[in-house]
Amino acid sequence: MDEEYYSSERFLNAKKEMDKLVEESLKSREQKQNVFFTKLSDVTKAMSEGLINWSRMNSLWPLQFGLACCAMELMDFGTSRVDAERKGYLLFRGTPRQCDVMIVAGWVTKAVIPEIKRMYEQMPSPKYVIAYGECATCGGPWFESYNIIKGIDQVLPVDIFVAGCPPRPENLFGALMKLQEKIGGKVED
Ligand code: SF4
Repeated sequence: MDEEYYSSERFLNAKKEMDKLVEESLKSREQKQNVFFTKLSDVTKAMSEGLINWSRMNSLWPLQFGLACCAMELMDFGTSRVDAERKGYLLFRGTPRQCDVMIVAGWVTKAVIPEIKRMYEQMPSPKYVIAYGECATCGGPWFESYNIIKGIDQVLPVDIFVAGCPPRPENLFGALMKLQEKIGGKVED
């Protein structure tokens, strides 16, 4: 091919023609395009926040401890009848440093408060508390006792209260689903 074929003027014209073609093609569109403008950093931030919340709500790590008879129901929660594993709720850990959910099951004596507080403080944030049963919620049958407090919410911030004396393991299942909703939105049954 000769040199003229590659001359800048020729390419300049080609660009003009192409621009014209694009302009006409856009004009001929009957529907307007749905477009929005935003900062890329905002998109990545929204996506990462959603992803983090989704991960948090689907990886609850409860602390393995019990205070009184409600803890028996907590044990029942681990049986095949309830099948809590289908939602991944049975990842009970023995150390607070690996947990983000504290299930307070049983009455809370004034003597045990420092230990509960210490365990709560050792849990990494964000962390959640479930008051499981009447005793943990309001003192239960011992609400007038000299040595039992009227609910763990007097000591720790409680996210979910579960009624019953004792509540059934299914109630704990429901409470964990509610907690998931609180963390990251609607949960499918
Ligand atoms: S709520 Fe009832 S079952 Fe649970 S610890 Fe209190 S007395 Fe026991």
